[in-house]
Amino acid sequence: MLFITPARSNLKVIVFPAQYLYDNLGNRRYQAGKSAQFVDGLFETDDKEIIDFLLASPRCGIDYMVQKGQGIDAHVSQEGQEELAKEAEALSTTVHSCPNCSFKAKNEAGLKSHLRLKHADE
Ligand SMILES: [Zn+2]
Repeated sequence: MLFITPARSNLKVIVFPAQYLYDNLGNRRYQAGKSAQFVDGLFETDDKEIIDFLLASPRCGIDYMVQKGQGIDAHVSQEGQEELAKEAEALSTTVHSCPNCSFKAKNEAGLKSHLRLKHADE
């Protein structure tokens, strides 16, 4: 299944981190982590564990979406995907700079909350 990010970002989604597991005898063994690493906005996998995780995540349809024509488009409607892609495009090209410091927010809401938190007294 092919996943895409709207802004062609190199998003990395951790499915589960690398970790050490202990068996009944207390022996430690290393278990490699699993993640979805997008490259130029694309990530393709046949790994059901990763696919299930990506589809179930609340970030699905926001940070990334399923490539059209893959049969699971119903998860996010085509209109929804186009809207999200447009929004992501707009967000990635619009920089919301703080007028009072060098802070740059990803979106207007981020800038507003920054202003509220950092410059409430000014
Ligand atoms: Zn500021």
